[in-house]
Amino acid sequence: MTCLRAAWVVPIDQPPMAGGWVAIDEGRIIGIGPAEAPVASVYGPITDLGDVALLPGLVNAHTHLELSWLRGAVPRAEQFTDWVQALFAVRGRPTDVGDLARIREAALETVLAMRAHGTSLVGDISNSLAVADIPAVAGLRGWTFHELLGFGERDDAQVTRSRERREAMGPSTLGVSVAAHAPYSVSRELLDAVAAEARRLSPAPVSVHVAESPEEDALIRNGTGPWRGLLERMGVWRNDWRVPGVSPVAYLHGVGLLQPHTLAVHCAQASDEDLELLRMAGATVVTCPRSNRWVGVGAPPIGRFYASGVRVGFGTDSLASVEDVNLFSEVAAAHAVAPQVPAARLLASATLDGARALGLAADYGSLTVGKCADIVAVSLPSTVDDIEGHLVAGVAAEHVSWASTRGALGARG
Ligand SMILES: [Zn+2]
Repeated sequence: MTCLRAAWVVPIDQPPMAGGWVAIDEGRIIGIGPAEAPVASVYGPITDLGDVALLPGLVNAHTHLELSWLRGAVPRAEQFTDWVQALFAVRGRPTDVGDLARIREAALETVLAMRAHGTSLVGDISNSLAVADIPAVAGLRGWTFHELLGFGERDDAQVTRSRERREAMGPSTLGVSVAAHAPYSVSRELLDAVAAEARRLSPAPVSVHVAESPEEDALIRNGTGPWRGLLERMGVWRNDWRVPGVSPVAYLHGVGLLQPHTLAVHCAQASDEDLELLRMAGATVVTCPRSNRWVGVGAPPIGRFYASGVRVGFGTDSLASVEDVNLFSEVAAAHAVAPQVPAARLLASATLDGARALGLAADYGSLTVGKCADIVAVSLPSTVDDIEGHLVAGVAAEHVSWASTRGALGARG
C-alpha cells in the first residue's frame, strides 16, 4: 500500500487537483483526493513526488505496429493515392508478410516507445497477426484488430478464415477482434461479412478507416477519381461494383458497420451529417491529425468532431505516416488545429474516451477508485497554473515516467 502526492493530480473524471494525492494497493487505486483532504494513515506511507502531474495512462486507439519497420521510409505526399503507392513500393501489397524478424524487432521497439510515452492501451491494426503477442511485452493492453481487405472479394471466406485464426490464438493481454480496411479497398460482400462478424463479436470493438481522403469520397460518391485508376491498375477493379452514391460514412452506415463499438478512424472528410450518423450509432471517431497531414489529406475537422457530440479518441497511426508514437504530440496537433476545444476534452479523448471506445473503461482511462493504478507522472516546471493547457501543448518523452503500474499482467478476458 502506498500514497502518492503530487503538484497536480489530473483524474480526468473530475477537475484537476492542485497538491492532490492517490492511494494505491495491489495495483488498484483505493483513494484519491485534493490537498486539503486528510490522508488517512490507513493509506500507508506518503511519497511526495514534487513537481509532477499524475494522470491515467494514455490510449492510442489506432496504430499499425506491423508497419513500424517503415519508419521514415514513406515520404510525405500531397495526395493520398500518391502516399499509398509509395507505401506499396516499399512494403509490397498488404497481403505480403515480408521480413518477419525485421517486422517483429521494429514492433518491439515501438511498443517500448509507446510505454515510455505514457501509453496504457492500444488499438492495433494487423493484416498478418505476426506481432499480436508483442504489445504484452511492454505491459500494454487493448485490442489487435485483424484487418481484412479486398476489393475483388466475392464472399465471406476471409471472415471465416480470420475467425479460425483468431480463435486459435493463445491467451494475451490484448483481445483480438476484426477490422475492415476501408470503403475503397473492401468489396460490398466482404463489408457485409465484417459487419455481421462485428455483431457476433459485440461488445468487442471493431475498426475501419473511413472518410480519410477526398479521393475516397470521389470513388464512393461517384465511382470516379484517382482511387478508381489505382484499383484498375492493381487489377482488382470490378465492373459489377455498384457505386454507393453517398458519403463513405453513410455507405458504412447502410452496410451496418457503424455500431456502438465501432472505431471510425480518420473521418477527416466527414460532414456534419456524417458525424450525426456516427453519434447516433454510438461509434467513436478516432482522429490521427499528424498522419492526416503526412498523407496529404489535410487537417481533420477537430472542432466539428467535438461540436457534434460524437465520442472522439486519438491514434498515432503507423510509423509509415508519423514521426513517433507519442500520443501527447497527437493531442498537441489536435489542439493546434482546434484551439477552441477545451483542453479537458482533448485530455478525456486521449484517456477515458479512448478506454471507453476499447471497452476497457472499467479498469482504465481515469484515476478512479477501483481502477488499475497505471499512472503516468509528467514532470513540470515549478509553476504551472493551467495544468490542462500545459498537458495539451505537447509533452516530450523525457518528461514522462510511470508513477505506478498495475500489478501482474492479466490474461485476456
Ligand atoms: Zn491506419
